[in-house]
Amino acid sequence: MPEIADVIKKYGGTNAAEVGNGPLTFSMSVEGLDGCGKTRFGLLTCPTPIVHINLGDRDATAMLYDMSPQRRKQTTLYNLHAQSAEGWTRAEARDALTAVADIAKAHLTDGGLVGGTFIIDSGSSFWELLQEVYVAPEQEKRDASGGKRRGGLEYTQANLIISGVLNWIKNQGAFLVITHTKAQEWDAQGPVPGKYRARLNNRVPYIVEVRLDLTKECSTCGAPDCKAHIGRKHIGQLLKFGRNTALEGMKFEDKAITFEMIYKLYTGGAFPNEGALE
Ligand SMILES: [Zn+2]
Repeated sequence: MPEIADVIKKYGGTNAAEVGNGPLTFSMSVEGLDGCGKTRFGLLTCPTPIVHINLGDRDATAMLYDMSPQRRKQTTLYNLHAQSAEGWTRAEARDALTAVADIAKAHLTDGGLVGGTFIIDSGSSFWELLQEVYVAPEQEKRDASGGKRRGGLEYTQANLIISGVLNWIKNQGAFLVITHTKAQEWDAQGPVPGKYRARLNNRVPYIVEVRLDLTKECSTCGAPDCKAHIGRKHIGQLLKFGRNTALEGMKFEDKAITFEMIYKLYTGGAFPNEGALE
């Protein structure tokens, strides 16, 4: 018969008495069009130490200039990019996924990032890489053999990987922030004006405890796409709030859109390590 201590170790069991030391961690999906503050939310408001993996085409280095010196010291940036303007080749995509796994293991194993933040920016790109490596080859095989569409079956492995990776990261004692870009929504008539939807794997909304939607509008006339005035109001809205669904739909503006605010709502108390937010 297996020993209790052995199964606790093997399956990651937790004795309830050990919970409650250190901050309660959770994972978040931060969603928005480019320029709405997704990267800013992660790099400038989340608790340090921070590991940030940039898979998008926007360089996050400029954000470093807005950080306090102590925040800069506690932040590690990784930029993983395709080598050519045509985008990721399958081999590059595979290398990038290996890199994400290596980086996560190196920084997170043995409590290396406890109380800090692991950021995947963006999860939309991460999902594209997974599809290129695990879904596209299955579809090509099917097309080559003249086979029928297999519904969602071709996505099974990629779905399992994204669940596995995100759940593993969540269990290492760090906050997980995964950003998602939005794309124009289309109907039979073409693009639907003003309608956008986040590009994310369909498991992600269940895996994360919090979904934060970021938008901006003209601070003078309120139009989302105003070209006449200078000045924007940023708006954050909770799309999912695992611990208290009554807060879903709640909106914040501008400087109130911070990790500190989300943490306070989530736990009912202030973030215990103030220095990590400076
Ligand atoms: Zn305006």
